[in-house]
Amino acid sequence: PTTVLWFRRDLRLRDHPALLAAAGAGPVVPVFVLDPAFDGAGAARRDALHGALRSLHEATGGALVVRRGRPEEVLPALVRETGAAAVHVSRETTPYGRRRDAEVERALDVDLVATGTPYAVGPGVLRKADGTPYRVFTPFSRAWRDHGAPGPAPLPAVRWGAAPTDPAGARVLAGPDTGRAGGAGEDAALRRWEAFLDNGLERYAERRDRPDVAGTSRLSADLKLGTVHPRTLLADVAAHRAGGSRGAQTFVSELCWREFYADVLHHHPASAWADLRADLGSLVYDDPAAEPTATRFEAWRAGRTGYPFVDAGMRQLLAEGWMHNRVRMVTASFLVKDLHVWWPHGARHFLDLLRDGDIASNSHGWQWAAGTGTDAAPYFRVFNPVAQGLRFDPDGDYVRRYVPELAHPAGAAAHEPWRHGGAPGYPERVVDHAAERVEALARYEAARR
Ligand code: FAD
Repeated sequence: PTTVLWFRRDLRLRDHPALLAAAGAGPVVPVFVLDPAFDGAGAARRDALHGALRSLHEATGGALVVRRGRPEEVLPALVRETGAAAVHVSRETTPYGRRRDAEVERALDVDLVATGTPYAVGPGVLRKADGTPYRVFTPFSRAWRDHGAPGPAPLPAVRWGAAPTDPAGARVLAGPDTGRAGGAGEDAALRRWEAFLDNGLERYAERRDRPDVAGTSRLSADLKLGTVHPRTLLADVAAHRAGGSRGAQTFVSELCWREFYADVLHHHPASAWADLRADLGSLVYDDPAAEPTATRFEAWRAGRTGYPFVDAGMRQLLAEGWMHNRVRMVTASFLVKDLHVWWPHGARHFLDLLRDGDIASNSHGWQWAAGTGTDAAPYFRVFNPVAQGLRFDPDGDYVRRYVPELAHPAGAAAHEPWRHGGAPGYPERVVDHAAERVEALARYEAARR
């Protein structure tokens, strides 16, 4: 019988267990639903999604059906039209995804069959010996490694079934390829990945913290959209000549962070927008809508805080819809500890602009920086934005790439223009880091008492 494959965070054909399950039964009608719940997503995330949909449309020989509407209405209608015997999906574990899938399941009179997840190890699978979920990365990562991932799923021979796309879907499929970040879709993801395997993996450990060099894989939006599955990456790393290198180990550990955060979100859905650690609930933050914080918050968003490393990151985010991980950490810390703004306000801004915007990685990345989340960074560790810049962008190249006002002074001096006669057009520092650090620590001490 015909089945429907409802694509979500799995916009690829290779290594796709749900496609394998669907294709075994007969013709497959592939569909993507433009869900109004995501209308608020920022332009970079929408471009990345639409690019991946166009690529998937091509890969299915034009079979991909794209329709706009609430999934619990679109899917039952498609099932009636096609006479499909089941709807296949990859299992979703985010709070919204789970609610949505439960509603779709109620609305369908055929089965919603979930096979696989966007992760090497499905969120919720690993538990401590006492049956409770992990809250600390290192033991989670040990259990994750011991558990291991199945090898990539084989590519099935698929007979695509047909159904019409609606006008909203047709507009998306006809859209221009914005061509950002080397192209969207599965083939582009695999090209990016092969380039990283050849030129980046072995030296990843030394270079991953350097925003001035292209030392990371740039696969985050691909992993977010599922144009590549992490299991494929893990299998390729294991088979690679540099598979045993420190670079490879560090890279695998970063993939594990992504899986850890998805697991934490699965067990604590509220942590998407609220402190995971309850003990800092009385920490006092400033109202981001009231002065002087409102002006400073706006300066942070615009990349005009007067701290070059922070500003370069915020401007990279505005220009590219992506920011280097080291700088994400520093800019997040600056908002929380120097401007005393509660992390969800910053997380919302990131999620609006990042093309890889992902609720689990973003919110928990913010909680890590804010000291309210899982184990990693205690609140009292406050990043010094100048020292971080000098250390990880030693020649000032990254800062100068995004902040043209800092063309002079040359070299590392770009991180401290105030010590070198200033830079025309570049703003004064909005706060004094040393003073705000003391203030942040005082608030923290008060909250713990
Ligand atoms: P690489 O260094 O090549 O890493 C490979 C992959 O591992 C990444 O693509 C990503 O999927 C995963 N990964 C790497 N570092 C992390 C990490 N710290 N946490 C979780 N997964 C990781 N990542 C997102 O995918 N979406 C987000 O919305 C997001 N928001 C973040 C917000 C903050 C405040 C912080 C500190 C980090 C955030 N990250 C997020 C994690 C990380 O910054 C990005 O995954 C990384 O910069 C993407 O670049 P890359 O693909 O070149 O990474």
